[in-house]
Amino acid sequence: MSDFDAIIVGAGAGGGVAAAVLAEAGLKILVLERGKALSFADEARDPLRTHRNSLYGHNTGPALEGNPRVLVEADGEEKILKPHQGGYQNNASAVGGGTFVYGGHAWRFHPDDFRMASRYGIPKDSSLADWPIRYADLEAGYERAEWEIGVAGDAQTHKFMPRRAKALPMPALPDNPQRQSLSKGAAALGWDWGPVPMLINTKEYLGRPVCEQCGYCVGFACPNGSRAGTHNTVIPRAMATGRCTLLTQVTVSKVLLEAGKAVGVEFFDENGSLQTARARQILLCAGAIETARLLLLSAWDKEPKGIGNNSDHVGRHLQGHYYAGAFGLTESNQFDGKGPGISIATTQFNHGNPGIVGGGMLANEFCGPALLHRAATWPPDLKRWGLDAKRYMREGRKRALHVHGPVQEIPSPDCRVALDHKVKDRFGLPVARLSGSLHPETLRVAAFMQDRAEEWLRASGAKQTWQRQIWTGLSAGQHQAGTCRMGNDPEASVCDAWGRVHGHENLHIADASLHVTNGGFNPVLTIMAMAFRIAGHLAKN
Ligand SMILES: Cc1cc2nc3c(=O)[nH]c(=O)nc-3n(C[C@H](O)[C@H](O)[C@H](O)COP(=O)(O)OP(=O)(O)OC[C@H]3O[C@@H](n4cnc5c(N)ncnc54)[C@H](O)[C@@H]3O)c2cc1C
Repeated sequence: MSDFDAIIVGAGAGGGVAAAVLAEAGLKILVLERGKALSFADEARDPLRTHRNSLYGHNTGPALEGNPRVLVEADGEEKILKPHQGGYQNNASAVGGGTFVYGGHAWRFHPDDFRMASRYGIPKDSSLADWPIRYADLEAGYERAEWEIGVAGDAQTHKFMPRRAKALPMPALPDNPQRQSLSKGAAALGWDWGPVPMLINTKEYLGRPVCEQCGYCVGFACPNGSRAGTHNTVIPRAMATGRCTLLTQVTVSKVLLEAGKAVGVEFFDENGSLQTARARQILLCAGAIETARLLLLSAWDKEPKGIGNNSDHVGRHLQGHYYAGAFGLTESNQFDGKGPGISIATTQFNHGNPGIVGGGMLANEFCGPALLHRAATWPPDLKRWGLDAKRYMREGRKRALHVHGPVQEIPSPDCRVALDHKVKDRFGLPVARLSGSLHPETLRVAAFMQDRAEEWLRASGAKQTWQRQIWTGLSAGQHQAGTCRMGNDPEASVCDAWGRVHGHENLHIADASLHVTNGGFNPVLTIMAMAFRIAGHLAKN
């Protein structure tokens, strides 16, 4: 455990990409992942235990016992939560991380997403800031992610998005009744629309088959591997070099320093024994909450509040995506039972909305099992039992339309990951303590986007429409980001423009923690593009 060029903590979206880049550059690397290497066969396809409906649990780690977090509510009440409970802000823990069960939206961020403060000014009490890099700096990384992980779509149809230098490797997913209805609605309103870029094979690609449209997509493992995550693309590539050692079910608990220099990590192995590993470079890719927690857990004499935290930014600016949207019932059949079902999006409102800071993207929802429809798409005036409920389950599902999308959040320094010294995990370590609530500007954008969603549904033939419920609490969850923000000024950020923790030449981060803002789009392609950029830079130097 002492002869590695680099250690990567976390084999998710960022960690998986970094593993391939470094191993293929000839480096000997160790990847430490606290989840298991799961396959489709490990999953029961139980719609009550998925990352979209986790009533009784979920289908990846972390285990429900021994991994609590504390949530501080707006009124000060503290809740100790298990990973499947609301407010825990979970993402999937497994080889592949979130990408093992994600839906596969593969959006590039808009160029203005990288310069929100310059474009809109800084709203009061917010920490809105520009990234230290621009869209152009990530173009090569985006292109690598699109081609090396595998994205399907017709990129040039969204007129508000920049043109790609190179087309996507696969055509868009097939048409379906929802796209037919919603495209007519968008055209009637004069809105731009196009397909959703997806990390799903629409032709045989990179040795993986075409999607068989089973309909169990977001939240579930993919049965034939046609949905691309890091677990079935870049991580196998890293392993194929013979230079990558992947240990699963191991939890990193500390970054080890000698004379202030990162020299390795401490981790608990599968049996709960404490081990150490050493390397010349340490790369943290444990996701926005756990990467911040690791830096905080690694406090030492000269950084008593945590590594990289002398300016008090580690763990702050925690954000995710407010999901704005609406539901509608039409008189015609919108449901063909074929996955992934998602087929149309508009980027009309990502920027340029009068009086609004930013905006967001809207797309139709994935096709899913009936129980998810029951959980999500339920008219507000309908009882959940009795004959009408049965009729709605039988007929409403076919006639329902649901459009929603990520709203660009306005970050706040008070949305935060800290350590809770009273509540400990199964290794006796302080757990993540989450606090804060959505910035009022985020709620204004959300209300604007909810209205646009309802407008789109009505123009598409919906006779009855209703909006998603408004929430104001902390946002992080599956799109968690921002806790170790990049910046050129060490006083205002945690990492530099290459993901290097300020003051630590050989300690880097390559996950969603780096995002200064989280875009008005699903974040994973940006996380992958950043990991290509950061790991490529490391390998070169
Ligand atoms: C159901 C679902 C649907 C989603 N759909 C989409 C989508 O359609 N499009 C999109 O853009 N995004 C989507 N996402 C979000 C996307 O998956 C995440 O944004 C992305 O995976 C985050 O990447 P990351 O590298 O920051 O962290 P992760 O991918 O979460 O990887 C972090 C890894 O680190 C491991 N880890 C954590 N702590 C430790 C530790 N102490 N020691 C060792 N290992 C550790 C974790 O187990 C995990 O595997 C979805 C997520 C889920 C769960």
